[in-house]
Amino acid sequence: MAKPGRHLDFFALMEELPRPGCPVCRLADRAEHRFLEVLFYEHINDGHVRARLRETGGFCRRHTQAILEAGDALGSSLLFGDLLRGGKQPPGPCPACQAGAEAARRAERCLLQHFLEPDVAAAYRAGGGLCRRHLDEAMRSHRSAASQQLLEVEEQRTRQLAAECAEFVAKTDYRRAGEPLGREGTAWRRAARKLGGGYPLDGAE
Ligand SMILES: [Zn+2]
Ligand SMILES: [Zn+2]
Repeated sequence: MAKPGRHLDFFALMEELPRPGCPVCRLADRAEHRFLEVLFYEHINDGHVRARLRETGGFCRRHTQAILEAGDALGSSLLFGDLLRGGKQPPGPCPACQAGAEAARRAERCLLQHFLEPDVAAAYRAGGGLCRRHLDEAMRSHRSAASQQLLEVEEQRTRQLAAECAEFVAKTDYRRAGEPLGREGTAWRRAARKLGGGYPLDGAE
């Protein structure tokens, strides 16, 4: 079988893989941010685009907050005025969230297409790896030798993380006071992200 080509999605993914936290969460967040940026900078005066948005019923709380923080009063007046007149009830899925979900599915597909290539697997092992939700999503949509290997990497990582959390708890015993902390000192952060998704905003763990 021919090796899949390395395209734009691949290079964007490769950049994220060795970093802490979930690479797919990062790419999804970036796509959501870009969706709102393009909407406000390029499409806000386009009545057809706003009519399509009206069909969705509007944005979720997280993206409403992002729009408010961007502070574009004119664009927001056009957008929200339209949405109010549309009044779809109940609202459908948030369009910015949908853009993120599409980017996540593309990244998962790309990861599995390339996971058996040694440089990709090494970059993946160096970083935080998929959060539970994105791992589960990847497993459901692509069953292959690559997904089996990815699952094994994550199962091993999960055992390691659980052991580090236990080690941290054990070291709080007064009989072990004064012992230096290793990686178990930050295990709770990595465990939280493995379960709930996300990544450290300052790029470090
Ligand atoms: Zn994730
Ligand atoms: Zn949303």
